[in-house]
Parts: sequence; C-alpha cells; structure tokens
Amino acid sequence: MEVIEKQPENSLQEKLISLVDKISIASVQDKKNLIKKDDFLLLLQNKDLIFDYTRNKANQIRQENFSNKIYIRALIEISNYCKNACYYCGINCKNQNIQRYRLSSEQIMECCKTAYELGFRTFVLQGGEDIFFTDEIICKLIKSIKEKYPDCAITLSLGEKSKESYALYKQAGVDRYLLREETANSEHYQKLHPKNMNHKNRLECLRSLKNLGFQTGAGFMVGSPFQTLDDIAQDLCFIQSLKPEMVGIGPFIPHEQTEFAKFPSGDLNLTLFILSLIRIMLPKVLLPATTALSSINPEGRTLGILSGANVVMPNVSPMEQRKNYALYNNKASVNEESAEGLILLQKQLDKINCKIDFSRGDYQQ
Ligand code: SAM
Repeated sequence: MEVIEKQPENSLQEKLISLVDKISIASVQDKKNLIKKDDFLLLLQNKDLIFDYTRNKANQIRQENFSNKIYIRALIEISNYCKNACYYCGINCKNQNIQRYRLSSEQIMECCKTAYELGFRTFVLQGGEDIFFTDEIICKLIKSIKEKYPDCAITLSLGEKSKESYALYKQAGVDRYLLREETANSEHYQKLHPKNMNHKNRLECLRSLKNLGFQTGAGFMVGSPFQTLDDIAQDLCFIQSLKPEMVGIGPFIPHEQTEFAKFPSGDLNLTLFILSLIRIMLPKVLLPATTALSSINPEGRTLGILSGANVVMPNVSPMEQRKNYALYNNKASVNEESAEGLILLQKQLDKINCKIDFSRGDYQQ
C-alpha cells in the first residue's frame, strides 16, 4: 500500500485544530490548561487555514448556549463631550470640528420610553467622559430609570471612574458596565493615548468593576494603529484570565479629524476570527456584533452572528444627535442599526435563522 507523506500544511492544520479544541476544553475546565500567548499567536498567524473550522465551532457553541436568540440592547449616546484625547476617537476633546451635545435627563428618559415601547429591556447609556455628569446626576438618573422600568437592565459605558463612583452606580441599580481595555499591552496603549492616560488605571477599573459584581465588558479594536498580532494574542490572554461577562470587539475605523485619519480600517475577517475565538473561549459571554462591524461591511452584523456574536445594540439616541456621536467615519446608525429598524433587523436575522430575544438577556453562569 502506498504511504502518502503528510504535507507540512496538513500537519500545521491539525495542530491548529487541536489548539482550537484546546480553547474549547479549557473553557469548561476553569483555570486549568489556560491557552498560552504563543498558541493564540500561532492561530492568528494562520487564521486562513483554520477560519472555517473556528467559525463553525463558535457558531455551534452560540447555538448550544442561546439557541437562535439574539439579545437586543437600546444604545443611548448621552453625550459627545469628553475630557480625553484618545488619538483614534472622533469625539476626543481636541476635535474642534464637531458639534458637541449632551442629552438632558428628560431626553434620556424619553429615549428609554421609546425603547421600552419598542420592546427593549436593556438600556445602554454610553458617552464620552463628560465632567457634567457627576456621580450625583448619574445616580439620580439611574434611580429614575429603575423606578420607571424595574424590569429593565441598565448598562453604563462612561469610561474610567474611581472605585467609589462605580460602587455608587452599583448601589443606584446599574447592572452592567462596558469598559474596553483597548489593548492589553501597555506600550501599545501609550501609542493610542496621550501621556496623561494610564493603562494601569484602565485595567484597575476593569478589576474594580468585576469585584463590585457588575456584569463587566472588556474588549478592543481590531486593527488599531500599531497593533500587532502579538498584541491581539496578549488581549486574548487578558480576556481569558479576566473572564468578563461581555466582550466588545470591533474593527478600528479612521476618523478624518483625528491623528489617525490616514490609518486603514481593521480587517473584517480578522475581526470575525477573533469573535469566534472569544465565543469558544467564553461560551456564555455576551458578545455584540458591533456597529463598527456593520459600518465596514453591510453584512457585518450577520457575519458577526455567524462567527459567534449573540447581541446587537440598535441606536435609540435622538435622530438629530446621532451624526454628532461620530467616533469614526461612516458610522452606521440608521435602518437595521437603529431602534426604528427592528423590523428590518428581524428580516436580516430571518435569513440566518435567528430571532430577536426581547428579554433582559443577563449573563448566565
Ligand atoms: N468613554 C467611554 C470609554 O472610554 O469606554 C465610552 C465611549 S468610547 C467612544 C466607546 C468605544 O468606542 C471605545 O472603547 C473604543 O474602542 C471605540 N472607538 C473609539 N474610536 C473608534 C474608532 N475610530 N474606531 C472604532 N472604534 C472606536
């Protein structure tokens, strides 16, 4: 019988398959057999060889944990004022060419009302780090929302605060907090942010949020300037050890009025591959198909779901302000990306045999 010698590529592929399987096994074994950075790096370097296998596995894990349900969150962009000067972000405080806005508490309550009537049971309040929103104002607002909509979850995404502030938000009734680490590599972090922003503090904030019992969201942009595959492997290790309940992953997209205007957008397939790795690593994680993903590709959302994502966050901000919350160019905020487009969203989901789930969609152990 003729013995066929294995091609080196085949043996590499076998190794990659066993690594992906190892991530899956590690995910149920708690702390034992954590995947090493070099293994993540090998997968990232050879993603094309393992892309379909990884995506199919991630999609299967999503279905096992969430069936065909996709959670929806009402995104309310409460302010585009920000005290920070992140080099990648269109609403950074150095940008003098945007019209700044801040929603009043009444406007925010109005957004919640619209969202509630449409069926949303999670409100996500996101904004720049706007010093107008003191702890007192935020807590008062949270209490009003909770009083009026006790059956709803509130997610905040308002940046870095002190542990004491986070504790106050928790007491006031906040359920979840999103704070991407942006990058787990402190040298890379310094290339994306001015000197007064501190990587250690950002990671510390994430740990505080976890310790306070928030459903905590971490994450990063794919393809941010100066990011290497090694950096991404480090982020995957960071996420593996933090075990956040939510992970926000989207491509970097340049904004023309930032220092990074000339950098290219993050790669679609690399973003999808990372979504899949995260779903396999954290089977129950709440993983949005982000607006940025839909912004670089009209099929971005469905591709994201088929790669393991299980959450979408339509925009319910007042229509006249949406264009001003421009983190990057050509940000999607209408049609399927908007709350008014829930019917369009359902039609989009029908095509991939998924359906909107109108419950709060909390993280389940
Ligand atoms: N200020 C809060 C914070 O720091 O977490 C929340 C608002 S911030 C604008 C939300 C997220 O937008 C950031 O975590 C960042 O990853 C993302 N973002 C900002 N600029 C971006 C860009 N040019 N492309 C893609 N995502 C971007």
